[in-house]
Amino acid sequence: MTRENFGELEDLIDLARSLGASRFCLYWLVPSGRGSDSYSRIQLGREEVTEALSLLYRKAQETDPGTMEFLTVESPQDCVHPIQSMERDGSPDLADARNLLKSLKGECSAGDRAANVDPLGNVSPCQFSHSLDFFIGNIRKRPFSALWTDSAHPVLARFREKPVHIGRKCGKCGYFEICGGGCRVRAYAKAGNFFSEDPFCFVDPDNSSL
Ligand code: SF4
Repeated sequence: MTRENFGELEDLIDLARSLGASRFCLYWLVPSGRGSDSYSRIQLGREEVTEALSLLYRKAQETDPGTMEFLTVESPQDCVHPIQSMERDGSPDLADARNLLKSLKGECSAGDRAANVDPLGNVSPCQFSHSLDFFIGNIRKRPFSALWTDSAHPVLARFREKPVHIGRKCGKCGYFEICGGGCRVRAYAKAGNFFSEDPFCFVDPDNSSL
């Protein structure tokens, strides 16, 4: 989702429901590949992100969960929005939602439960981490099993140890336990620092608690 199709979100959800789709999945823009070139021009701002998440929350409430699920990708911090919305609404499901998110231990799955292998055999932690800075190895030179279990590899180590190192805004955020610190690809693209904060996060850590 970008500034170019943000205004169509509700119509897209309604279309998906009318077609009987079982899942509505929203992908945010990541500064990766061709997304890097247009990122600053079409990435959404904080107000638009909050508006989109509010719309998803409302649509999810109007929808039988047995017929369609809603999810977003590439922004672990999105989980904060439904929690805050459920708090505001006094939802009876709030405790279960918190416990579920805590059991998942936050964090995106890149470099841990997810990997990307490109058409040339290059392995990286996720489908958005294309630059050489995220290069783990090539399956034509070394088996994937050997690459993935090499926990001393600096890229894998950084992804797997990141909760200990992420600082700045995330370091003082009360939602870190369920979010895990946002997207590392976005943080690195913005600051050149793997452990920096995700600049796409809409959460104000000074008013965050679980
Ligand atoms: S400040 Fe960091 S830890 Fe808190 S919600 Fe945003 S990305 Fe997640």
